[in-house]
Amino acid sequence: MPPTNQSTPAFSPADVTVLFVLGGPGAGKGTQCARLVRDYHFTHLSAGDLLRAEQDRPGSQYGQLIKDCIKNGAIVPMEVTVALLEKAMRDTISATGNKKFLIDGFPRKMDQAFKFEEVVCPARLVLFYDCPEAVMERRLLERGKTSGRADDNEESIRKRFRTFVETSMPVVDHYDAENRVVKVDATPPPDQVYAETQVKLKKVLGDKL
Ligand code: UDP
Ligand code: MG
Repeated sequence: MPPTNQSTPAFSPADVTVLFVLGGPGAGKGTQCARLVRDYHFTHLSAGDLLRAEQDRPGSQYGQLIKDCIKNGAIVPMEVTVALLEKAMRDTISATGNKKFLIDGFPRKMDQAFKFEEVVCPARLVLFYDCPEAVMERRLLERGKTSGRADDNEESIRKRFRTFVETSMPVVDHYDAENRVVKVDATPPPDQVYAETQVKLKKVLGDKL
C-alpha cells in the first residue's frame, strides 16, 4: 500500500503529455502555441485566458479577486488556477480524447509548479521563451492598442515585469537545474522563433512531438 499522505496525480505522464510554456509577458507564448497546435495537435490551455473566462463567469466567487490580481500583475492563488487547468484538461480529454497539452503562462510561482505536478500531472518539459524586457514592452504597448486587456498598459506592464523577474524566473531556474528546460530566443520575428522551437522540441521529444 502506498503511504496515505502522498497523493497520486490525476493524470499519468505516460498517458498525458504536458509542456509548460513560460516567458515574460509579451514574449510571444500565445503566438508560438497557436503554431504548435496547428502542426502537432496539442490542446492549448492559457492560464491567463482561463482566469479571464472565470472572472467573467456569472456566479464565480473569484471574479473580483482575479480582476484585482490581473490588473496588478499579481499571481492569483494557486488553488484557483490549478483547479481551472485540471478541469480544462478533463473536459478536453473527455470531449476530444486529445492528451497533449501546452500549458501557457503557468506555473508562474514555485508553489503552483509543485502543486500541479503533485495533483494534476508531472510536466514533460518547460518551453521557455527568452526575451529582453525592452522588446516585450514594445510588443505589449502595441498589443494594448487593440487587445482590450486591463493589464496591457504602462503601469500594469511594469508590475508584470517585476512579478516575472521575482516570482516566475525562479520557476524556470528550478526546472533548468533539473535539465527540463528547452530555451528559445524570442527576440526574432515569429517565423524564426517557431523554426527554432520546432528544431529544439524535435530533438528532445522525437515522436512524442
Ligand atoms: N495569472 C495568474 N496565474 C497564472 C497565470 C496568469 O495569476 O498562472 C494572472 C496574472 O495576474 C497575470 C495575468 O493573469 O499577470 C495575465 O496572464 P497572461 O498569461 O494572460 O499574460 P501574458 O504573460 O500572456 O502576457
Ligand atoms: Mg499570453
